[in-house]
Amino acid sequence: MTLSHETTIQTAVAPQVLLGNHLKALKLPTFAREYEKVAMESAQDRADYPRYLLRLCELERIDRERRNVERRIRMARFSQIKSLDTFVFAAQPSLNKSLVLELARCEWIEKRHNCIALGPSGTGKTHVALALGLAACQKGYSVAFTTAAALVHELMEARDERRLRALQKHLNTVKLLVVDELGYVPFTAVGSELLFEVFSQRYERGSTLVTSNLPFDEWTSVFGSERLTGALLDRLTHHVHILEMNGDSYRLATSKKAQRRSGHAPNAMAKTSTEGGEDPKQ
Ligand code: ADP
Ligand code: MG
Repeated sequence: MTLSHETTIQTAVAPQVLLGNHLKALKLPTFAREYEKVAMESAQDRADYPRYLLRLCELERIDRERRNVERRIRMARFSQIKSLDTFVFAAQPSLNKSLVLELARCEWIEKRHNCIALGPSGTGKTHVALALGLAACQKGYSVAFTTAAALVHELMEARDERRLRALQKHLNTVKLLVVDELGYVPFTAVGSELLFEVFSQRYERGSTLVTSNLPFDEWTSVFGSERLTGALLDRLTHHVHILEMNGDSYRLATSKKAQRRSGHAPNAMAKTSTEGGEDPKQ
C-alpha cells in the first residue's frame, strides 16, 4: 500500500494499525514490538518525547546489530560454532595466546593481513579458525568458512557449470576467507590452479586464514607444482600471522583422560579413531 492510500483511509483505521504498517515499511521491527511497552515505562519515569524516542532508537539499533551478526554467522557457513571462551590455552603451550587474543580483535582483517595455523591433527586449528571467524562476524566483517577440499570441489563444479566468475567474485568480496584443512587431500593440476587464483585474487584485498597439518616445505605435495606453491606462499605469507600449534592432540588427551576416569586403559583403536587426520568432518 502506498503512503497516499494510507493517508486517505487514515481516519477509518486505528492508528496502531497504520503505525504498524509504517514501521514495517521502514524496517523498524523493534519499534513496532516495543513502542507501547516503552511508552508506559516512559510515562512512569516522566521521560519526555525525545527521551521516549531515544529509548526506542537505542533498542532498534541493538536489535539490528544482533540480527546483522546472526546473518553474518549464517552466511559464513561455519561447520560448527566455537569461540575462544571454550579454548583451553594451557592445553596448547606452543600456541601464542596473546597473538590469538590480538587476532580476535580483528585489526589484522582491517589491514588485510593473512593468518596461517600450522600443526598436527587435533591441536585445535579448526577450533581457533572457527573462533576467529566468529569474532570477525561479531565485529562486523563478512566471513566465508570452507575446507580446502570443499572449496576446490566447488570451484571445479562452478567452472564446469560456467559460473566460476560469480563464485570468484563472491570469494573476493568477503572480508575474511577461512580455508580449513589444507594438506589432507592433494589437488589435481586444475584444482591447484583454481585455488591459487582465489588466494592470488585476495592478495592485499582481503584476509585469508588457512589451517594446515603440513609445514610449508611440504605444501608442494598438495599443489603438485613447486612453481605454483612458491608463488602462492609468496602472496599468502607477505603479511602473515603464523599460529604454531605443535602440541599434543586435544582429542587424544581428553579421550585418554576420560578413559582413565572410567577405569579403561587407552587402547590402540581409541588412538586411531581420535587422531585420524583423514577425517574431514573433524
Ligand atoms: P585440528 O583442527 O587441529 O585437527 P580441532 O580444532 O578440530 O583440531 O580440535 C579437535 C577437538 O578438540 C575439537 O572438538 C576442539 O574443539 C577440541 N580442542 C582442541 N584443542 C582444544 C583446546 N586447546 N581447548 C579446548 N578444546 C580443544
Ligand atoms: Mg581441523
